[in-house]
Amino acid sequence: MAGANTSANTMLLNRGFVREPFLPDPARWNDVYDMLCGHCANKADCGLIEAMLAFAQGRTREWPENAWVTDLGTSATCLSYAPIRGETISRQRLDALAHTPDEALPHVCGGCAAKKGTEASVALHTQRDYRAAVRDQSEFTCHEDPENKRLCGGWCRAVQRKEV
Ligand code: SF4
Repeated sequence: MAGANTSANTMLLNRGFVREPFLPDPARWNDVYDMLCGHCANKADCGLIEAMLAFAQGRTREWPENAWVTDLGTSATCLSYAPIRGETISRQRLDALAHTPDEALPHVCGGCAAKKGTEASVALHTQRDYRAAVRDQSEFTCHEDPENKRLCGGWCRAVQRKEV
């Protein structure tokens, strides 16, 4: 992204990956917005969106701090992304989960957010969603389930271990 003031946003991550401001092609803007802002708790009153649009439209030369940046897992993430708080599952379901043997839990899929080395395990917004869901004991479903109903195997085991 030539011309942007990147110094404040550039961050060195593991494996030498450097986060830099991320301005999508105009044709991809809506996709990135849906992926990030569409699931973000800050969406209703976020000033970053207008500030990024101002940059995209040449009204400012400053890319806002803590806005969209490149990501190791997905192509883009937002440093200010905030998970939407989910509803804690019932005590009955928590008790049932606590007593479910490992072999009866949903399997941990190949791209699980809880599995080291997966894209989801290093995507900033996905990790924030995952950790919030474990902390809050709110449902986190497997991305491989086309119906988005099956619980994430990694989440089940983390909640069992009370990783909160
Ligand atoms: S904080 Fe980031 S992801 Fe959330 S609404 Fe604002 S720009 Fe979008």
